[in-house]
Formats: sequence, C-alpha cells, structure tokens
Amino acid sequence: MKPAIFWFRRDLRLEDNKGLYETLSRYEEVIPVYIFEDDKASPDNSRKNTLLLSSLLKLNSKIQEQGGSGIMVQRGTASSIISNLISLYDADAVFCNEEYEPSCIERDKQIRENLNLSGRSFNSFHDHLIFSGKDFTQASPKQLDKFSTFKPEWLKMFEKTNIETFPSENILGKFTKITIPPFPSFKDLQFRKSSTPFLPSDLDLLKVKNYDQFKDFPAMDATSKQSFNIRFGLQSIRKIVAQSKDLNDQFLNALIWREFYAFTLLSFPKTEDTEYISRYQDIHWRHDKKDFEKWATGQTGFPLVDAGMRELNQTGFMHARLRIITANFLVKHLMIDWRMGADYFSKKLLDHDMASNIGNWQWIAGTGCEAAPYFKVYNTYDETEKIDEDMEYIQKWVPEFASWNYAKPMEEHCVSLNQLHIAKIA
Ligand SMILES: Cc1cc2nc3c(=O)[nH]c(=O)nc-3n(C[C@H](O)[C@H](O)[C@H](O)COP(=O)(O)OP(=O)(O)OC[C@H]3O[C@@H](n4cnc5c(N)ncnc54)[C@H](O)[C@@H]3O)c2cc1C
Repeated sequence: MKPAIFWFRRDLRLEDNKGLYETLSRYEEVIPVYIFEDDKASPDNSRKNTLLLSSLLKLNSKIQEQGGSGIMVQRGTASSIISNLISLYDADAVFCNEEYEPSCIERDKQIRENLNLSGRSFNSFHDHLIFSGKDFTQASPKQLDKFSTFKPEWLKMFEKTNIETFPSENILGKFTKITIPPFPSFKDLQFRKSSTPFLPSDLDLLKVKNYDQFKDFPAMDATSKQSFNIRFGLQSIRKIVAQSKDLNDQFLNALIWREFYAFTLLSFPKTEDTEYISRYQDIHWRHDKKDFEKWATGQTGFPLVDAGMRELNQTGFMHARLRIITANFLVKHLMIDWRMGADYFSKKLLDHDMASNIGNWQWIAGTGCEAAPYFKVYNTYDETEKIDEDMEYIQKWVPEFASWNYAKPMEEHCVSLNQLHIAKIA
C-alpha cells in the first residue's frame, strides 16, 4: 500500500485530531508534513516563528517516541512542496484539516485539482471549530449575521449534538520510519530566533471558573491565554469546550464569538477587506502615516492606549480589553482605516487568526456583522478608572507616563468630531 501524507496546518497535536485520525485509520504508512508557506508565514515575526518552531519540535519528538522518523518541516509554496513530496514518496493521497480563510480555500481547491489530475486524492476534515458553516442548515447565513441570532442557534445545536472526539492518540504507530530530512534550524528556514517566546500552557480551570469576575482587568493574569493554542490547534477545541462548558458561561460565550467570526468570514469572504455593511463602504478613512506610527509604537500620549500597544510590540500578546480600546482609538478617535490596524495586528499577534482579527476590527469600526454602533467611542480615561484603577498595567508598560518625557496627547477630542463631519458620518 502506498503511503499518505498528513499535512499539519492549524492542528499541531497528535490528540483528538480528526484529519490525523482519519489518515491513520486508513493508511499503513503516514508521512507527517508542516509547511511554512511563504505567502502566509511572517518571516519578520521572529517571536511567532520561534514559538511555532518550538511547537513543531515538540510534535517531532512525540512522533519519534512513537517510532516514527519525525515531521518533515519545509518552507516555500504549498502547492509545489506537496507535489514534490507526492512524487518523491510516491504517495497516494494528502490528508489535512480544513481551513476557512478565503486564500486557504482557493489554495486547497488548486491542490485538490492537481492531485486529482494525477489520480491522487485530497481529503480534508472539519476540526478546528465545534460547528462548521455547513452545520447551520436551519437558517441562512444572512439570518445568522448577528451574534444575537447566531449564539442561540449555536447553543441549540450544541445541546442536541453529541460532540464526537477522534482518538488519533491511540493509533500513532503508523508514522513513516523512512529517513526524512533532519528537523530544520532557524538558519535553514531563514528565520531569526527570538529570545522571548511566550510559552503556551494548558487550560487553567480555576481561571475559567473565575473568568467573568476578573477577565476585564489587564493587570491580573485572569484570562485563559489559550488563543495561540487554539489558533494553531495545540489543544483540541472539543477538549477545551468539554472541560470548560459547565464552569463559566462567559468563557463559553468567548469561544462562541470565535465560532461566530469563523462562520461570518466563511459565509461572507469579502469581509476580509470590505465593510460588511455596504453603506459604510464610502467612509473616508484617514491614512495618515505619522499618526498611525504614533499609535503603532505606543506614543499617542494616552497611557492606556500606549500600554496596550507596547504590550503587543514587546510580547506578541495583548489583553482583550486593550485590543478593543486600542482599536477603538485608531478607528474612532484618529479616524484611521480599520484595515491598517488589522494589518498591523496580523503582523504582531502570536495568535493572529484572520477571522477573529477581521471580525473584531469590523465590530470596532461599526462596519461588520454584529457591529458596535458608529457612535460607540471609548473614553480612555474612563476606561482606565474601570479596568486599571491603580494604574498597575499602565505603570508596567509606560513607566514614564507621569514624567515630562512622556508624549503629549496627540489628539484633541473636538478634532475627532470634525473628522466625523469630514468623513460624512456625523
Ligand atoms: C481588534 C481585535 C483583534 C483581535 N484579533 C484576534 C486574533 O487575531 N486572534 C484571536 O484569537 N483573537 C483575537 N481577538 C479576540 C480576543 O481579544 C483574543 O482571543 C483574546 O484576547 C485572547 O486571549 P485569551 O486566550 O486569554 O482569551 P480568553 O478571554 O481567555 O478567551 C478564551 C478564548 O476565546 C476566544 N475569544 C475570546 N474573545 C474573542 C473574541 N472577541 N473574538 C474571537 N475569539 C475570542 C479566543 O480563542 C480565546 O483564546 C481580537 C480582538 C480584538 C478586539
């Protein structure tokens, strides 16, 4: 029997992995592969690449513990790498889990067509969400374009569905034992190594239990910090939901937001770069590079905003509350195009996920599915009182905030109102 290739993508784990389970169940020899795709990898994001490579190294060791040769890690264009590997190992099929971003759907379509032409198959499975878009058969996407209608529908399905698991961890003996290229170094991949990678950890159930009480206070380490694990599938979403569903409704709610944004990007792919609400497609956003730079580097003179942006720049993570406040500042105070903010986040966030990023930015801009109203503008000083009363978070990231050295506020609030007039939305 010819071997099959299993292509790891956003599912870097051996446990409860649907696509991997299907491959190992059907084939006697499975070649595991990961591709840093040139058009998707962030060659300049050394922190993210360091974290990804260390996650892959762990996966490699686990595969070797099971008697396999390890995982083949390559960098380049997915379609050519896949076709080279197919010829080199005379593989019969490619297996993977589905990805729902528009460019990934197009890439998979082309690879499937090429494989079919040479008599091979491409098999993809639904894995990284509890429900995929195809599961919502009772209502049209248009009827579910608000979180307030999507969530009840999601919960209804969740109550009546037995969420299956896929015990790939029990059948790991079939990874190929042939000699494969050694695990690559940073140099081989032309990546820079970062000295401060964030370390993914398991879900802390105590944090989940107390989630609603403390989640809004950025100085406390009170959110789950599972976004990288979930984005790259280091943990199965089925397992996370099973562990947390009865512990805290607000936590489940956060996970349903993620499902909502994945659903809306899949259903309305144009929202990747276009406002969902068509009447807002004519907004005259500003594209001022100097103002954008001040925001991006945390030099706005608004301590809470600067603290959030510096946390992002220095760690690759930003607390959720601060993502809202910094994004709101860019879009509603500076009137700068939400796409510029989303692009910046996409390059800096370790957990960057197109659906969640775009969905949230459009929510903030007031232009998306379930959008915040255009007049929802956060006052950063009021927010400081609410979420960082003792200024602990601000002190940490903007230690000079009370000194003469600190930037003057870049924005007079009366200007924002003028800008709203210029943009013809007030
Ligand atoms: C402008 C903006 C951009 C964002 N970009 C991303 C992104 O690229 N990737 C990303 O994973 N999240 C994004 N978020 C959502 C959210 O801020 C992060 O998921 C969260 O801060 C991650 O920290 P945590 O794991 O401790 O989350 P927790 O608060 O512990 O939540 C648990 C999990 O629920 C999911 N989740 C929580 N809130 C949201 C939300 N609003 N939308 C979607 N999923 C959510 C995440 O998977 C998260 O790990 C963005 C939010 C905003 C406002």
